[in-house]
Amino acid sequence: MKDNFKYELGLINGKVYQDGNFVAVDVYVKDQVIAEIVPQGTILPCKEIFSCTNKLILPGFIDSHVHINLELGEFKSADDYESASKAAAFGGITTFIDFLEPINKIEEFDYKLKKKQDEAKKSYIDYAFHTTVGNFDDDVEELIRISQENGIPTIKLFTTYSESNRKISDDKLREFLKNSNKTNTLILAHVENDEMILNANVEDTITAYESSRPAKAEIVEIEKITGMAAASGGKLYIVHVTCGSSVELVKDKYGELLGKSIFIESCPQYFHLTKDVFQQENGNLFLLAPPLRSSEEQEKLKENISFINTIGTDHCPFTKEEKMRYKEASKIPKGLGSLEFSFSLMYHLFGKEIIDKFTINPAKIHELFPKKGVIQVSSDADFVIFDSSKTLFIDSGHSRSDYSPYENMITNGLIESVILRGEFVVRNRKLQDVKRGMFIKRN
Ligand SMILES: [Zn+2]
Repeated sequence: MKDNFKYELGLINGKVYQDGNFVAVDVYVKDQVIAEIVPQGTILPCKEIFSCTNKLILPGFIDSHVHINLELGEFKSADDYESASKAAAFGGITTFIDFLEPINKIEEFDYKLKKKQDEAKKSYIDYAFHTTVGNFDDDVEELIRISQENGIPTIKLFTTYSESNRKISDDKLREFLKNSNKTNTLILAHVENDEMILNANVEDTITAYESSRPAKAEIVEIEKITGMAAASGGKLYIVHVTCGSSVELVKDKYGELLGKSIFIESCPQYFHLTKDVFQQENGNLFLLAPPLRSSEEQEKLKENISFINTIGTDHCPFTKEEKMRYKEASKIPKGLGSLEFSFSLMYHLFGKEIIDKFTINPAKIHELFPKKGVIQVSSDADFVIFDSSKTLFIDSGHSRSDYSPYENMITNGLIESVILRGEFVVRNRKLQDVKRGMFIKRN
């Protein structure tokens, strides 16, 4: 039976984030989308009124870089869709984008997509996928077509990892970039110079790990790939940039393309941790690729925050036991968990300047806009209710990993409630046990 209320949910008396400002309006939801935005003062007929006095109302966050159920030799990352999406929800994330396993032939596409779609059914939040290629040896245009047809306008590739046959050849890389613009496909690239890594010749330990994939390997390769993108008019998104010098290089050489056809993503770990942690006794716990950098590079990264378009997490946690199992850096599974604390960590450093990098920017860059990333009529009713006067104490969190790299930190601001398409996923810090996450086709 249908009830008589015109709206299902009304968020009233909050400060609503719109176009970079906080506005005193009330937001009403019907049929999972934002139906009405009105000046504060008049209450519309509504099934539930949720008062947000003194709270910020932000668009639901988007994390466009997560790894769920990632298989790495003898290891599998700790989170499946249930635990990852739970951690994400507590972190205010209402949409995340995972990666299909790398494919080298087009025939692999269908079952790799099907596999992810099956896994993702347990998600509390909305999800999408990036197609991933390894040492791709097939028809580039055809892969782009099939990927687009399945609602995936983004393709990830690697300039390194030749030892596991994931490095793309220069010819294919050029072809992907060349075809990206006319097909409106974004090329996501993990950018490190493969040869410099293969020839690094440092001992296989945690303490020497950073020099095995040095900052220079990122900077040199970013110079090369941004040059290729600029020459071909390609659409390029550089994932997990670790160095401030890398951002400066792109800004200085291709500033006019930055934010238009070339995009930079970085991750909270590169702002909060430095390579010094690899010298600690528990240095294994912080191992990831590309590595954490020097405090100088980290400072430069912070100085250049306004040139970084999005914050993704590269979420890929393992358990303590798995991280500590070997002494050789090469044998340890690389990756950290950051999903749950990503926004809090970045808001703590930068305040409201960081909001767009979790909302409208990733929405526009990854073709989720205007469905996601913005509080306006007809957009999905995804919200984060944030109390900037409170603090968050970071513990191991809701991930299945038994630790967080940020444990015992206290950050400014607290994510109190999270709403996905008009229904609470987290309500006053309590998980609502309804898994309504769905696959978002992006085109
Ligand atoms: Zn990644």
